[in-house]
Amino acid sequence: MDDGGYVMAGFSLLLMVPAMILALMILSIDDSSVERSADRSLSESMTGALWDIRDSIPVITREVLNGTAQEAINGTLPPDLDARARVRAGVQGRIDRLCAVHRNMNLSCRVNSVEGATDDPFCIEVNSTVDIRAGKIHHTENISVRVPVEDLPDPLPFRVLGRLQHNETSIEYGRSLMDHLSSGNREAYDGASGPFLIRRCPYEPYTIHGSSGVLYTCLLNGYYHESHDGSCYLCRLEGKTSCPHLGLETFIIPSGNFEEAPVSVDHVLFTTAYAGELHNVSGFIIYLDGAHRKKYGVIQ
Ligand SMILES: [Zn+2]
Ligand SMILES: [Zn+2]
Repeated sequence: MDDGGYVMAGFSLLLMVPAMILALMILSIDDSSVERSADRSLSESMTGALWDIRDSIPVITREVLNGTAQEAINGTLPPDLDARARVRAGVQGRIDRLCAVHRNMNLSCRVNSVEGATDDPFCIEVNSTVDIRAGKIHHTENISVRVPVEDLPDPLPFRVLGRLQHNETSIEYGRSLMDHLSSGNREAYDGASGPFLIRRCPYEPYTIHGSSGVLYTCLLNGYYHESHDGSCYLCRLEGKTSCPHLGLETFIIPSGNFEEAPVSVDHVLFTTAYAGELHNVSGFIIYLDGAHRKKYGVIQ
């Protein structure tokens, strides 16, 4: 090789160095963009998992509540039931199975509490903490969801009186409610009937029940009302006829016609019944005391 050859080889070597640096740079850029798009798809699937949990909690909770109510109806619940703990454990078990389905990440959801909503007795509040880890990403989020109890069976009559005949919408009390009552014209409740499903009364404020036709429609549909004296849904599962929470009350329709008989409101009949006066509501006979007349705007 002559001198010119050495110069050319040295020159091309010098040219190769920046070319290699450039190639390395491009490679590393490529690497980080691959990483970025992997991160993006991972974070997208994490968001999807989060939504999956958030959307499933109400569905799962309603199924667990309904299953527990069915057990109340069948008489298979323990007398000293802790409804909050039982429903929480039931929801937790189902959520754990759901989390296990998301195999590409480490997903867990702890159900912290199941409580009645403090401002709405027709809703149960479920509080949980979701924890997701995948790759370098770690995300924790508290989720609070409200689950309506509307159209679920009312477990209380079954918890208080045992087995009762019912169809899809109403309970036939037979002699059981009359036998449960200890005084007054309890015969008025021989063959009484009441609602089977929790349905929110749409007639608010409640005082408009005194208007023509409203109380009749309410009784016909077996609607439930907010009440400080009646028990909440979770306490109904426990068989408690009253509780410190914001609760529910409904009317139970007697069959007998007396001037006076125990007040036709469920928590009154299930606890210490007291007498009310007869009201004929377009053919429905019910008994009301002063406080309930006032609440529902019914004029004597
Ligand atoms: Zn009503
Ligand atoms: Zn309660």
